[in-house]
Amino acid sequence: MSRIAYVNGRYLDMRDASVNIEDRGYQFADGVYEVCEVRGGKLVDMPRHLARLQRSLGELRIKEPMPLAALSVVMHEVVRRNRVNYGIVYLQVTRGVARRDHGFPAAPVKPAVVVTARSLDPAKGQANAAHGIKVITLPENRWPRVDIKSTALLPNVLAKQAAREAGAYEAWYVDRDGYVTEGSSSNAWIVTKEGRVVTRSADAGILAGVTRAVLMDAFEALQVRFEERPFTPAEAAGAAEAFVTASSQIVMPVVAIDGQPIGDGKPGALAKRLREQFHRFAVFS
Ligand code: PLP
Repeated sequence: MSRIAYVNGRYLDMRDASVNIEDRGYQFADGVYEVCEVRGGKLVDMPRHLARLQRSLGELRIKEPMPLAALSVVMHEVVRRNRVNYGIVYLQVTRGVARRDHGFPAAPVKPAVVVTARSLDPAKGQANAAHGIKVITLPENRWPRVDIKSTALLPNVLAKQAAREAGAYEAWYVDRDGYVTEGSSSNAWIVTKEGRVVTRSADAGILAGVTRAVLMDAFEALQVRFEERPFTPAEAAGAAEAFVTASSQIVMPVVAIDGQPIGDGKPGALAKRLREQFHRFAVFS
């Protein structure tokens, strides 16, 4: 079956789907994006993804390409046309097409919108979770506005590649003060020996993950003790458990950091439980 993409108002066969070479997304990475989990054909936590999209657009002064409710309709339609039951839907909005010049276009242009969806093999995610993933650490080298979900991801691309070349799955950035900020495409968490879940505050240095927010809201019902504070790689290495969260990973146990096993080197019980319970607290649409 051929894949269908939504590009600026049209549903196109992927082979015919293209954007203008003067799109500012292509020229300057002048755009934002969202990735939403698809489960049982439904989109997971769309209201939160759309709210974050709206915030990212606002911070960059990119116009909303259409009302958020209409964007939601397009995303559902792309999922439906691609018959995605389990996978992800990707949305990108750029400032639009204009002659190449760093400053914003003098005459307003229409923001460009692309939506794609693809199926993922749930067994692969489950196998990863069953084994747990390894992370490496790298010095933080991104701009300070990582709260904006911008398509400018070159440091993240290089970090992920460094992780792969080191035989790991994810890279955790470490700030100048020696604290973990987040992963190249996920939020970072540990569980202390006393059973407290720890993650950095979303005030600075990280993207406010949707998965992170949903999980935090679930802690009371799950009777999980929680602390929002930074932690170091050394604390992570000595922790009982660690895990990452992202829409495409849900809760993914981490079993080693820079080659040192975390806990007994196996996925932690709490991370496993949070992974199993997560979708009870998610919103499906
Ligand atoms: N941090 C970064 C840098 C990310 O790229 C992502 C997701 O791609 C996350 C955190 C997790 O965010 P979410 O849970 O909304 O997918």
